[in-house]
Amino acid sequence: MIAGGNHYFCRMSKFFLRKKIGDRIINGHPWIFGNELGDSEGTADAGDIVEVYSYSGSFVGKGYYNPASQIRIRLLTRDKNEEINDEFFYKAIKSAWEYRQQIGYVENCRLIFGEADQLPALIIDKFNDYFVIQTLALGIDKWKGAIVAALEKIFNPKGIYERNDVPVRELEGLPQQKGFLSAPFDTNIILNENGLKFHVDIVNGQKTGYFLDQQDNRRAIQHIVKDANVLEAFCYTGTFSMHAAHYGAKSVLGLDISENAVNTARRNAELNGFEDICKFDAVNAFDVLKKWVTEGKRYDVVMLDPPAFTKSRENIQKAITGYKEINLRGMKLTKPGGFLVTASCTNLVPPEMFLDIIGMAAKDARRKLRQVTWQTQASDHPILWNIPTTQYLKFLIVQVL
Ligand code: SAH
Repeated sequence: MIAGGNHYFCRMSKFFLRKKIGDRIINGHPWIFGNELGDSEGTADAGDIVEVYSYSGSFVGKGYYNPASQIRIRLLTRDKNEEINDEFFYKAIKSAWEYRQQIGYVENCRLIFGEADQLPALIIDKFNDYFVIQTLALGIDKWKGAIVAALEKIFNPKGIYERNDVPVRELEGLPQQKGFLSAPFDTNIILNENGLKFHVDIVNGQKTGYFLDQQDNRRAIQHIVKDANVLEAFCYTGTFSMHAAHYGAKSVLGLDISENAVNTARRNAELNGFEDICKFDAVNAFDVLKKWVTEGKRYDVVMLDPPAFTKSRENIQKAITGYKEINLRGMKLTKPGGFLVTASCTNLVPPEMFLDIIGMAAKDARRKLRQVTWQTQASDHPILWNIPTTQYLKFLIVQVL
């Protein structure tokens, strides 16, 4: 109990960081792990808002608490006077939207990118008038009602859908689930990007249905695909393939292991009038690329955007091997003077490590590389310098000499 506080503050429990813990947290990182906490005052239930203090007793911030999670507290504010209530979420979402508009994202964007928007474990993707939400921790899940109300108020959307069918929720003691958070609507929507149209299946698509993080990178292939024969492996719904056709490719072959993705890719080709240029096959890219290398096939441009290969640091070697293997094959399939477009979407492989892997693949392929483009996720997925994991996407174009 805090003597003299008002009723609200009276009930809020206090947690103290252990001695010598704090730099990362004081410098802006919102996560506090169980082993970083020492004393506490008062009792807190899972999902409650609690106050955090340094060892010596200075106020650090307020956040939500979950004793079942290794990340015991995630901070929402550093302001002692800011109350965490419906208004807090409204203001945070409104400000994130203003920022997206300021940096040029109007129609589609990742509206909330969790920690990078000071709303840990919350993801909201905006696909024109439709919104897809993920609440990946208990303490944010409890505010789902307030979050939906804020979206209704700011955007008056045509639909809001929850894609909480994500295993990470189980670490928080939450069930996997998906469903409408607004009145039901037709969840097969079309979005516009760079002058093209794409089908998005909000209910059954991967993650939130569409990979907005590559929206700017898709434009980066503009000058290298003209009159080219292009191969895209791990194409999902064919977004890069469609851009290649749009920018003048002669032929495009897209490969993905998912029948569903390939079917949508074909429908995207029809939607954009590229069904004669873009063909898609549902195959395992590892097997097929290996076979085509031995058969001596060659393409002007090879594009690769494989899945993360691992979700844990312990398994990092698996990711390194996977990236090296697939890029080695990609390079071998690229004509001398052709281009390799390659990406990696996990923060477990930092940018320098990714470049090292590509370098090793080039050495094994006995090819020299000339760098064309080296960038990251679209800036509607902000990178906070004091939260290194907010940078996760690597995107590289090299000429393969
Ligand atoms: N570039 C895409 C996203 C790719 S996500 C976009 O911007 O929209 C990675 C894709 O790899 C997924 O669609 C997944 O189905 C596919 N995939 C995973 N393993 C595969 C394999 N062994 N062979 C082919 N595709 C695979």
